[in-house]
Amino acid sequence: MIQGVTLQGTTRLLAVIGDPVRHSLSPLMHNAALAAMGLDYAYVALPVTAARLGDAIGGFEAIALAGFNITIPHKQAIAPYLSEISAIAQGVGAVNTVSWTDRGWQGTNTDVEGFLAPLLDLARDWSQTRALVLGHGGAARAVVAGCVQLGCPAIHVVGRNPAKLAAFQQSWQGSPLTQNWPLAETLQVHGWEALAELMPEAGLVVNTTPVGMSPNVEACPVPGEAMAKLRAGAIAYDLIYVPNPTVFLQGASARGAIAINGLEMLVQQGAAALRIWTAREDIPVDIMRNTLKQHLRLE
Ligand code: NAP
Repeated sequence: MIQGVTLQGTTRLLAVIGDPVRHSLSPLMHNAALAAMGLDYAYVALPVTAARLGDAIGGFEAIALAGFNITIPHKQAIAPYLSEISAIAQGVGAVNTVSWTDRGWQGTNTDVEGFLAPLLDLARDWSQTRALVLGHGGAARAVVAGCVQLGCPAIHVVGRNPAKLAAFQQSWQGSPLTQNWPLAETLQVHGWEALAELMPEAGLVVNTTPVGMSPNVEACPVPGEAMAKLRAGAIAYDLIYVPNPTVFLQGASARGAIAINGLEMLVQQGAAALRIWTAREDIPVDIMRNTLKQHLRLE
């Protein structure tokens, strides 16, 4: 059932494509928003394998799909099928939102906007806020791009694989996001053992690893020794949204830090995509958030 969405001859289609895609929460939150806005759109999840990506995109053009979100494994592979890629998506190195325009498919990345939304609600002097990012996968790219946009004076990325860490650091060379930005001084990578040393200076600590995510809810990416050095008043941000709070956020709150979980990023990246597709600013973000909270039985 698509609640409140009436499918008719004029209905335009939006989608999320990926492999797998069946667990995506995007149809739920987007259809709730579209229904509340009274728009003649429906949003579906379409499983598309890597081998059939080109066929799928050709088909989307043929049936005049209005736009689509992209999840694993197509976030980079989509690039050759797009006529334009925004600077933010080029900088992050991944596209998560595509819209049809009179110039063809246009790709962008709304994860950065989603990540930043709850931070921008806090009155902070970001030029004095050193960021500590745990993990260096796909989500970490949006987080680093967000920290660059905030103007954080230092971004320390911690990981467990030296080769991947070095490749991550290297990947930002020549990025359109970092052209006027002293990358070598600002972005530094470290092994996990450096956490305790980096923690006292960090004003923003972001977990981009899946450590602590359901069903492994007892796990915490930050060992006790490092957690004990988290500053009161620092921001602890976990991209995980189930459970809420994670053990990391529980520990951070107990130390007097401000805890942010990943639900708002999920909601806000979706709201940003809807703004692009519908050309409307009045996206019912509360309805999207509450729909997900109810579904995930959060709070
Ligand atoms: P990814 O590309 O697979 O990256 C995961 C990162 O975590 C890698 O750097 C990986 O390191 C590291 N990692 C995994 N297990 C680890 C462990 N046990 N110890 C230390 N590091 C570990 O995944 P992703 O797409 O970035 O997603 C990461 C998390 O963010 C997931 O929990 C996802 O649900 C969440 N997320 C949330 C949102 C949101 O809107 N809230 C959006 C995107 C992602 P190795 O390469 O060494 O394995």
